[in-house]
Amino acid sequence: MNKKKWKPIIPPCRSTTLTIKSVSSPKNSKDNHNKKLLVPLYPMERTAVLERFDVDRVRKDFPILTRTVNGKPLVYLDNGATTQKPRQVIDAIVDYYTQLNSNVHRGVHHLSQLATDAFEVTRRKLQPFINAAHEHEIILTKGTTESINLVASCYGKAFVNAGDELIISAMEHHSNIVPWQILCEERGATLHVVPISDAGELDMEAYQSLLNERTKLVAITYVSNALGTINPAKEIITLAHAVGAPVLLDAAQAIQHLSIDVQALDVDFLAFSGHKMYGPTGVGVLYGKEKWLNAMPPYQSGGEMIKEVTFAKTTYNELPFKFEAGTPNIEAGICLAHAIDYITELGLDNIARHEHDLLTYATGQLLEIPGIRIVGTAKEKSSVISFLLDGAHPYDVGVILDKLGVAVRTGHHCTQPLMDRFAIPGTVRASLAMYNTREEMDVLVAAVKRASAMLL
Ligand code: PLP
Repeated sequence: MNKKKWKPIIPPCRSTTLTIKSVSSPKNSKDNHNKKLLVPLYPMERTAVLERFDVDRVRKDFPILTRTVNGKPLVYLDNGATTQKPRQVIDAIVDYYTQLNSNVHRGVHHLSQLATDAFEVTRRKLQPFINAAHEHEIILTKGTTESINLVASCYGKAFVNAGDELIISAMEHHSNIVPWQILCEERGATLHVVPISDAGELDMEAYQSLLNERTKLVAITYVSNALGTINPAKEIITLAHAVGAPVLLDAAQAIQHLSIDVQALDVDFLAFSGHKMYGPTGVGVLYGKEKWLNAMPPYQSGGEMIKEVTFAKTTYNELPFKFEAGTPNIEAGICLAHAIDYITELGLDNIARHEHDLLTYATGQLLEIPGIRIVGTAKEKSSVISFLLDGAHPYDVGVILDKLGVAVRTGHHCTQPLMDRFAIPGTVRASLAMYNTREEMDVLVAAVKRASAMLL
Protein backbone atom coordinates (compact mmCIF):
# COMPACT_ATOMS: atom_id res chain seq x y z
CA MET A 1 0.00 0.00 0.00
CA ASN A 2 1.29 3.45 -0.83
CA LYS A 3 1.40 5.22 2.52
CA LYS A 4 1.23 8.66 0.92
CA LYS A 5 -2.30 7.92 -0.22
CA TRP A 6 -3.40 7.14 3.29
CA LYS A 7 -6.13 9.57 4.35
CA PRO A 8 -6.69 9.82 8.08
CA ILE A 9 -10.33 9.88 9.06
CA ILE A 10 -9.61 12.11 12.00
CA PRO A 11 -8.55 15.74 11.91
CA PRO A 12 -4.87 16.68 12.17
CA CYS A 13 -3.80 17.57 15.66
CA ARG A 14 -2.86 21.05 16.66
CA SER A 15 0.83 21.68 16.44
CA THR A 16 0.97 24.58 18.85
CA THR A 17 0.12 24.84 22.52
CA LEU A 18 -1.75 27.71 24.08
CA THR A 19 -1.80 28.90 27.62
CA ILE A 20 -5.20 29.19 29.22
CA LYS A 21 -6.30 30.25 32.66
CA SER A 22 -7.71 26.96 33.80
CA VAL A 23 -8.49 23.61 32.40
CA SER A 24 -10.62 21.02 34.07
CA SER A 25 -8.91 17.85 35.22
CA PRO A 26 -8.10 15.42 32.45
CA LYS A 27 -11.28 13.43 32.08
CA ASN A 28 -11.34 10.15 33.85
CA SER A 29 -12.26 8.12 30.84
CA LYS A 30 -13.64 5.39 33.11
CA ASP A 31 -16.64 7.64 33.65
CA ASN A 32 -17.58 7.48 30.01
CA HIS A 33 -16.12 4.08 29.22
CA ASN A 34 -18.29 2.34 26.64
CA LYS A 35 -20.51 5.38 26.32
CA LYS A 36 -18.33 7.46 24.00
CA LEU A 37 -17.01 4.86 21.67
CA LEU A 38 -13.36 5.38 20.78
CA VAL A 39 -13.16 8.88 22.20
CA PRO A 40 -10.34 8.01 24.58
CA LEU A 41 -8.33 6.66 21.66
CA TYR A 42 -8.30 10.00 19.90
CA PRO A 43 -6.93 12.44 22.43
CA MET A 44 -6.78 15.32 19.98
CA GLU A 45 -7.89 18.20 22.12
CA ARG A 46 -5.79 18.08 25.23
CA THR A 47 -2.89 20.28 24.23
CA ALA A 48 -3.55 23.33 26.37
CA VAL A 49 -0.90 23.95 29.02
CA LEU A 50 -2.04 24.37 32.60
CA GLU A 51 -0.82 27.50 34.32
CA ARG A 52 -0.48 26.00 37.77
CA PHE A 53 1.14 22.69 38.57
CA ASP A 54 -0.91 20.89 41.21
CA VAL A 55 0.91 17.78 42.37
CA ASP A 56 -2.07 16.54 44.41
CA ARG A 57 -4.23 16.61 41.32
CA VAL A 58 -1.53 14.86 39.31
CA ARG A 59 -1.21 12.10 41.90
CA LYS A 60 -4.92 11.33 41.65
CA ASP A 61 -4.33 10.29 38.04
CA PHE A 62 -1.85 7.56 39.04
CA PRO A 63 -3.76 4.71 40.70
CA ILE A 64 -0.65 2.80 41.76
CA LEU A 65 0.49 5.65 44.00
CA THR A 66 -2.25 4.85 46.50
CA ARG A 67 -1.01 1.32 47.20
CA THR A 68 1.14 0.21 50.09
CA VAL A 69 4.38 -1.76 50.04
CA ASN A 70 5.47 -3.72 53.09
CA GLY A 71 2.62 -2.09 54.98
CA LYS A 72 3.83 1.43 54.19
CA PRO A 73 2.54 3.92 51.64
CA LEU A 74 4.50 3.47 48.43
CA VAL A 75 7.10 6.15 47.78
CA TYR A 76 8.09 5.42 44.20
CA LEU A 77 11.54 6.84 43.42
CA ASP A 78 12.65 4.50 40.65
CA ASN A 79 11.35 6.67 37.85
CA GLY A 80 14.61 6.53 35.93
CA ALA A 81 13.95 2.82 35.40
CA THR A 82 10.33 3.31 34.44
CA THR A 83 7.60 5.78 35.31
CA GLN A 84 4.13 4.94 36.55
CA LYS A 85 1.19 5.38 34.17
CA PRO A 86 -1.72 7.78 34.54
CA ARG A 87 -5.26 6.47 34.33
CA GLN A 88 -5.61 8.15 30.95
CA VAL A 89 -2.96 5.78 29.53
CA ILE A 90 -4.23 2.73 31.41
CA ASP A 91 -7.81 3.31 30.25
CA ALA A 92 -6.68 3.80 26.68
CA ILE A 93 -4.99 0.38 26.76
CA VAL A 94 -8.22 -1.25 27.91
CA ASP A 95 -10.19 0.71 25.33
CA TYR A 96 -7.84 -0.36 22.58
CA TYR A 97 -8.35 -4.05 23.31
CA THR A 98 -12.05 -3.79 23.99
CA GLN A 99 -12.97 -1.58 21.03
CA LEU A 100 -10.31 -1.45 18.39
CA ASN A 101 -7.85 -4.35 18.35
CA SER A 102 -6.74 -4.85 14.79
CA ASN A 103 -3.55 -4.82 12.75
CA VAL A 104 -2.35 -1.52 11.30
CA HIS A 105 -1.41 -0.29 7.83
CA ARG A 106 -2.77 -3.32 6.05
CA GLY A 107 -6.51 -3.87 6.35
CA VAL A 108 -9.33 -2.18 4.48
CA HIS A 109 -11.80 -3.19 7.14
CA HIS A 110 -13.16 -0.63 9.57
CA LEU A 111 -11.25 -1.64 12.69
CA SER A 112 -7.96 -1.81 10.87
CA GLN A 113 -8.47 1.68 9.52
CA LEU A 114 -9.37 3.01 12.96
CA ALA A 115 -6.35 1.32 14.54
CA THR A 116 -4.10 2.70 11.80
CA ASP A 117 -5.44 6.20 12.27
CA ALA A 118 -5.03 6.02 16.03
CA PHE A 119 -1.47 4.68 15.61
CA GLU A 120 -0.61 7.52 13.24
CA VAL A 121 -2.06 10.06 15.68
CA THR A 122 0.85 9.23 17.95
CA ARG A 123 3.37 9.99 15.23
CA ARG A 124 1.50 13.19 14.47
CA LYS A 125 1.64 14.21 18.12
CA LEU A 126 5.32 13.35 18.45
CA GLN A 127 6.25 15.71 15.64
CA PRO A 128 5.28 18.94 17.47
CA PHE A 129 6.28 17.43 20.82
CA ILE A 130 9.94 17.43 19.73
CA ASN A 131 9.44 19.97 16.93
CA ALA A 132 10.56 17.66 14.14
CA ALA A 133 10.38 19.21 10.67
CA HIS A 134 8.51 16.22 9.27
CA GLU A 135 6.23 13.52 10.62
CA HIS A 136 8.11 10.90 8.62
CA GLU A 137 11.27 11.65 10.59
CA ILE A 138 9.63 9.89 13.55
CA ILE A 139 10.33 6.15 13.57
CA LEU A 140 8.41 4.11 16.12
CA THR A 141 10.64 1.47 17.71
CA LYS A 142 10.58 -0.76 20.79
CA GLY A 143 12.45 1.79 22.87
CA THR A 144 15.68 3.73 23.27
CA THR A 145 17.81 0.60 23.01
CA GLU A 146 16.32 -0.37 19.68
CA SER A 147 16.51 3.21 18.41
CA ILE A 148 20.24 3.37 19.14
CA ASN A 149 20.82 -0.09 17.68
CA LEU A 150 18.99 0.97 14.55
CA VAL A 151 21.34 3.90 14.03
CA ALA A 152 24.43 1.84 14.87
CA SER A 153 23.39 -0.80 12.36
CA CYS A 154 22.06 1.32 9.49
CA TYR A 155 24.16 4.46 9.76
CA GLY A 156 27.13 2.19 10.47
CA LYS A 157 26.60 0.19 7.27
CA ALA A 158 26.27 3.33 5.19
CA PHE A 159 28.89 5.61 6.68
CA VAL A 160 31.40 3.93 9.01
CA ASN A 161 34.55 2.35 7.59
CA ALA A 162 37.99 1.21 8.71
CA GLY A 163 39.98 4.05 10.25
CA ASP A 164 36.89 6.08 11.17
CA GLU A 165 36.23 7.27 14.70
CA LEU A 166 33.14 7.47 16.91
CA ILE A 167 32.78 9.38 20.17
CA ILE A 168 30.74 8.53 23.25
CA SER A 169 31.15 9.69 26.86
CA ALA A 170 32.15 8.12 30.16
CA MET A 171 28.61 8.48 31.51
CA GLU A 172 26.74 6.45 28.89
CA HIS A 173 24.17 3.76 29.58
CA HIS A 174 25.28 0.35 28.27
CA SER A 175 22.78 0.71 25.45
CA ASN A 176 24.75 3.72 24.20
CA ILE A 177 28.08 1.92 24.53
CA VAL A 178 27.75 -1.66 23.35
CA PRO A 179 26.13 -1.01 19.92
CA TRP A 180 29.03 1.32 19.07
CA GLN A 181 31.63 -1.16 20.33
CA ILE A 182 30.12 -3.85 18.11
CA LEU A 183 29.99 -1.47 15.15
CA CYS A 184 33.63 -0.45 15.65
CA GLU A 185 34.70 -4.10 15.86
CA GLU A 186 32.80 -4.93 12.68
CA ARG A 187 34.05 -1.96 10.67
CA GLY A 188 37.58 -1.53 12.06
CA ALA A 189 36.72 1.86 13.52
CA THR A 190 37.87 3.36 16.84
CA LEU A 191 35.63 4.31 19.75
CA HIS A 192 36.73 7.32 21.81
CA VAL A 193 35.35 8.18 25.24
CA VAL A 194 35.01 11.75 26.53
CA PRO A 195 36.15 11.83 30.16
CA ILE A 196 34.16 13.48 32.94
CA SER A 197 35.05 15.48 36.04
CA ASP A 198 34.55 14.35 39.64
CA ALA A 199 31.30 16.33 39.64
CA GLY A 200 30.12 14.26 36.69
CA GLU A 201 30.42 16.93 34.01
CA LEU A 202 31.75 16.32 30.51
CA ASP A 203 35.28 17.50 29.87
CA MET A 204 34.43 19.73 26.93
CA GLU A 205 38.09 20.49 26.16
CA ALA A 206 38.83 16.79 25.88
CA TYR A 207 35.73 16.40 23.71
CA GLN A 208 36.91 19.11 21.36
CA SER A 209 40.35 17.56 21.10
CA LEU A 210 38.81 14.20 20.11
CA LEU A 211 36.84 15.70 17.21
CA ASN A 212 38.45 15.58 13.78
CA GLU A 213 37.66 14.84 10.15
CA ARG A 214 37.71 11.08 10.87
CA THR A 215 34.87 11.46 13.42
CA LYS A 216 31.84 9.79 11.88
CA LEU A 217 29.36 10.10 14.75
CA VAL A 218 29.02 11.45 18.28
CA ALA A 219 26.58 9.54 20.53
CA ILE A 220 26.03 11.14 23.92
CA THR A 221 23.38 11.06 26.57
CA TYR A 222 21.38 14.24 27.05
CA VAL A 223 20.78 13.46 30.74
CA SER A 224 22.77 10.87 32.68
CA ASN A 225 20.59 8.19 34.25
CA ALA A 226 23.12 7.53 37.03
CA LEU A 227 24.30 11.07 37.84
CA GLY A 228 21.49 13.33 36.67
CA THR A 229 23.96 15.51 34.72
CA ILE A 230 22.31 17.52 31.93
CA ASN A 231 24.89 17.71 29.17
CA PRO A 232 25.34 20.84 27.02
CA ALA A 233 23.61 19.32 24.01
CA LYS A 234 23.65 22.38 21.78
CA GLU A 235 27.39 22.94 22.27
CA ILE A 236 28.13 19.24 21.73
CA ILE A 237 26.22 19.33 18.45
CA THR A 238 27.70 22.59 17.19
CA LEU A 239 31.25 21.34 17.80
CA ALA A 240 30.55 17.99 16.11
CA HIS A 241 28.96 19.65 13.10
CA ALA A 242 32.04 21.84 12.72
CA VAL A 243 33.96 18.68 11.72
CA GLY A 244 31.02 17.29 9.74
CA ALA A 245 29.99 14.66 12.29
CA PRO A 246 26.31 14.01 13.08
CA VAL A 247 25.15 13.62 16.68
CA LEU A 248 22.84 11.10 18.31
CA LEU A 249 21.38 12.22 21.62
CA ASP A 250 20.19 9.52 23.99
CA ALA A 251 17.15 11.30 25.43
CA ALA A 252 15.85 8.38 27.51
CA GLN A 253 16.23 10.48 30.67
CA ALA A 254 15.58 13.86 29.09
CA ILE A 255 12.30 13.58 27.23
CA GLN A 256 10.17 13.44 30.41
CA HIS A 257 12.00 16.33 32.13
CA LEU A 258 13.08 18.83 29.47
CA SER A 259 11.39 20.49 26.57
CA ILE A 260 13.26 19.26 23.48
CA ASP A 261 13.32 21.04 20.13
CA VAL A 262 15.24 18.92 17.63
CA GLN A 263 15.39 21.71 15.07
CA ALA A 264 16.71 24.30 17.52
CA LEU A 265 19.30 21.78 18.72
CA ASP A 266 19.98 20.77 15.11
CA VAL A 267 20.42 17.22 16.43
CA ASP A 268 20.70 14.45 13.84
CA PHE A 269 19.22 11.57 15.83
CA LEU A 270 17.23 11.49 19.07
CA ALA A 271 16.28 8.29 20.90
CA PHE A 272 13.78 7.80 23.73
CA SER A 273 11.38 5.30 25.32
CA GLY A 274 7.63 5.53 25.95
CA HIS A 275 7.74 3.78 29.32
CA LYS A 276 10.00 6.41 30.87
CA MET A 277 7.61 9.21 29.88
CA TYR A 278 4.46 7.86 31.55
CA GLY A 279 3.53 5.82 28.49
CA PRO A 280 3.37 2.09 27.82
CA THR A 281 6.30 -0.29 27.66
CA GLY A 282 7.32 -1.62 24.25
CA VAL A 283 7.27 1.58 22.23
CA GLY A 284 10.00 4.11 21.70
CA VAL A 285 11.09 6.71 19.23
CA LEU A 286 13.93 7.34 16.89
CA TYR A 287 13.90 10.82 15.43
CA GLY A 288 16.28 11.15 12.51
CA LYS A 289 16.88 13.96 10.06
CA GLU A 290 15.31 13.06 6.75
CA LYS A 291 18.63 13.33 4.91
CA TRP A 292 20.24 10.67 7.12
CA LEU A 293 17.24 8.35 7.20
CA ASN A 294 16.98 8.44 3.43
CA ALA A 295 20.68 7.65 3.07
CA MET A 296 20.54 4.67 5.44
CA PRO A 297 19.60 1.12 4.46
CA PRO A 298 16.64 -0.54 6.24
CA TYR A 299 17.11 -2.00 9.71
CA GLN A 300 15.03 -5.17 9.74
CA SER A 301 13.29 -6.67 6.75
CA GLY A 302 9.92 -8.28 6.13
CA GLY A 303 6.40 -6.92 5.91
CA GLU A 304 5.60 -3.21 6.01
CA MET A 305 9.10 -1.96 5.08
CA ILE A 306 8.75 -2.92 1.41
CA LYS A 307 7.28 -1.16 -1.59
CA GLU A 308 7.41 -4.14 -3.93
CA VAL A 309 8.76 -7.66 -3.60
CA THR A 310 9.60 -10.05 -6.40
CA PHE A 311 11.98 -12.99 -6.18
CA ALA A 312 14.35 -10.99 -8.33
CA LYS A 313 14.34 -7.76 -6.33
CA THR A 314 12.73 -5.86 -3.46
CA THR A 315 12.23 -2.12 -3.29
CA TYR A 316 11.80 -0.38 0.04
CA ASN A 317 8.96 1.66 1.45
CA GLU A 318 9.30 5.37 2.04
CA LEU A 319 9.95 6.95 5.43
CA PRO A 320 9.07 6.20 8.14
CA PHE A 321 7.86 2.72 7.15
CA LYS A 322 11.22 1.70 5.68
CA PHE A 323 12.42 1.34 9.28
CA GLU A 324 9.28 -0.25 10.74
CA ALA A 325 9.34 -3.88 9.60
CA GLY A 326 6.65 -6.22 10.88
CA THR A 327 3.68 -5.66 13.16
CA PRO A 328 4.54 -2.94 15.67
CA ASN A 329 3.41 -2.81 19.29
CA ILE A 330 0.08 -1.34 18.23
CA GLU A 331 -1.46 -0.89 21.66
CA ALA A 332 1.63 0.83 23.05
CA GLY A 333 2.03 2.94 19.93
CA ILE A 334 -1.55 4.18 20.14
CA CYS A 335 -1.55 4.78 23.87
CA LEU A 336 1.72 6.72 23.88
CA ALA A 337 -0.35 9.59 22.45
CA HIS A 338 -2.14 9.81 25.80
CA ALA A 339 1.14 10.14 27.67
CA ILE A 340 2.24 12.89 25.30
CA ASP A 341 -1.06 14.69 25.88
CA TYR A 342 -0.72 14.27 29.59
CA ILE A 343 2.77 15.79 29.70
CA THR A 344 1.85 18.51 27.22
CA GLU A 345 -1.13 19.59 29.25
CA LEU A 346 0.90 19.85 32.45
CA GLY A 347 3.70 21.61 30.59
CA LEU A 348 7.30 20.42 30.67
CA ASP A 349 8.45 23.72 32.15
CA ASN A 350 6.01 23.28 35.04
CA ILE A 351 7.13 19.69 35.51
CA ALA A 352 10.82 20.68 35.43
CA ARG A 353 10.23 23.44 38.01
CA HIS A 354 8.45 21.05 40.36
CA GLU A 355 11.10 18.36 40.00
CA HIS A 356 13.91 20.86 40.51
CA ASP A 357 12.31 22.02 43.73
CA LEU A 358 12.19 18.40 44.93
CA LEU A 359 15.79 17.83 43.87
CA THR A 360 17.06 20.88 45.76
CA TYR A 361 14.97 20.12 48.82
CA ALA A 362 15.93 16.43 49.05
CA THR A 363 19.61 17.06 48.28
CA GLY A 364 19.83 19.61 51.08
CA GLN A 365 18.20 17.24 53.59
CA LEU A 366 20.26 14.23 52.56
CA LEU A 367 23.55 16.11 52.79
CA GLU A 368 22.92 16.62 56.50
CA ILE A 369 23.17 12.87 57.10
CA PRO A 370 26.68 12.00 58.35
CA GLY A 371 28.60 9.65 56.02
CA ILE A 372 26.48 10.33 52.94
CA ARG A 373 28.16 11.04 49.62
CA ILE A 374 26.24 12.24 46.59
CA VAL A 375 27.70 10.97 43.32
CA GLY A 376 26.91 13.44 40.56
CA THR A 377 27.00 17.08 41.55
CA ALA A 378 26.92 18.78 38.17
CA LYS A 379 25.69 22.37 38.05
CA GLU A 380 23.05 21.43 35.49
CA LYS A 381 21.22 18.50 37.00
CA SER A 382 18.00 16.66 36.45
CA SER A 383 16.03 15.06 39.28
CA VAL A 384 18.35 12.14 40.06
CA ILE A 385 20.08 11.68 43.40
CA SER A 386 22.70 8.95 43.41
CA PHE A 387 24.33 8.42 46.77
CA LEU A 388 26.39 6.18 48.99
CA LEU A 389 26.49 5.75 52.73
CA ASP A 390 30.16 5.32 53.59
CA GLY A 391 30.79 1.76 54.72
CA ALA A 392 27.39 0.42 53.59
CA HIS A 393 26.75 -1.54 50.42
CA PRO A 394 24.13 0.16 48.19
CA TYR A 395 22.17 -3.09 48.03
CA ASP A 396 21.75 -3.21 51.82
CA VAL A 397 20.58 0.39 51.87
CA GLY A 398 18.09 -0.38 49.09
CA VAL A 399 16.65 -3.36 50.95
CA ILE A 400 16.09 -1.32 54.11
CA LEU A 401 14.48 1.49 52.13
CA ASP A 402 12.19 -1.03 50.46
CA LYS A 403 11.05 -2.33 53.85
CA LEU A 404 10.05 1.25 54.59
CA GLY A 405 8.04 1.53 51.38
CA VAL A 406 10.65 3.55 49.47
CA ALA A 407 11.41 2.15 46.01
CA VAL A 408 14.88 3.14 44.81
CA ARG A 409 17.33 1.52 42.41
CA THR A 410 20.66 0.14 43.62
CA GLY A 411 23.64 -1.09 41.65
CA HIS A 412 25.48 0.11 38.56
CA HIS A 413 22.39 1.39 36.71
CA CYS A 414 23.65 -0.13 33.44
CA THR A 415 26.64 2.21 33.59
CA GLN A 416 29.47 -0.07 34.72
CA PRO A 417 32.25 2.03 33.13
CA LEU A 418 30.89 5.06 34.97
CA MET A 419 30.99 3.20 38.28
CA ASP A 420 34.60 2.22 37.45
CA ARG A 421 35.37 5.90 36.83
CA PHE A 422 34.29 6.66 40.40
CA ALA A 423 35.83 3.41 41.74
CA ILE A 424 32.54 2.38 43.36
CA PRO A 425 30.46 -0.81 43.02
CA GLY A 426 27.26 1.13 42.47
CA THR A 427 25.03 3.68 44.11
CA VAL A 428 21.59 4.04 45.61
CA ARG A 429 19.58 6.07 43.13
CA ALA A 430 16.46 8.04 43.88
CA SER A 431 15.06 9.29 40.58
CA LEU A 432 12.18 11.72 40.95
CA ALA A 433 9.16 12.31 38.78
CA MET A 434 6.36 14.85 38.42
CA TYR A 435 4.11 13.07 40.94
CA ASN A 436 6.63 12.99 43.79
CA THR A 437 6.17 15.36 46.72
CA ARG A 438 8.21 17.11 49.40
CA GLU A 439 6.52 14.85 51.94
CA GLU A 440 7.90 11.85 50.07
CA MET A 441 11.35 13.44 50.17
CA ASP A 442 10.98 13.60 53.94
CA VAL A 443 10.12 9.88 53.99
CA LEU A 444 13.21 9.17 51.87
CA VAL A 445 15.46 11.17 54.18
CA ALA A 446 14.04 9.49 57.29
CA ALA A 447 14.50 6.07 55.67
CA VAL A 448 18.12 6.82 54.76
CA LYS A 449 18.75 7.95 58.35
CA ARG A 450 17.26 4.69 59.57
CA ALA A 451 19.45 2.68 57.18
CA SER A 452 22.47 4.64 58.30
CA ALA A 453 21.70 3.90 61.96
CA MET A 454 21.29 0.20 61.19
CA LEU A 455 24.29 -0.27 58.91
CA LEU A 456 27.01 2.09 60.11
N1 PLP B 1 19.69 5.30 27.86
C1 PLP B 1 19.50 5.75 29.10
C2 PLP B 1 20.18 7.02 29.52
C3 PLP B 1 18.70 5.05 29.98
O1 PLP B 1 18.51 5.51 31.22
C4 PLP B 1 18.07 3.87 29.54
C5 PLP B 1 17.23 3.07 30.46
O2 PLP B 1 17.35 3.16 31.65
C6 PLP B 1 18.27 3.46 28.22
C7 PLP B 1 19.09 4.19 27.41
C8 PLP B 1 17.61 2.23 27.68
O3 PLP B 1 16.23 2.41 27.62
P1 PLP B 1 15.25 1.19 27.26
O4 PLP B 1 15.59 0.09 28.20
O5 PLP B 1 13.89 1.75 27.48
O6 PLP B 1 15.51 0.84 25.85
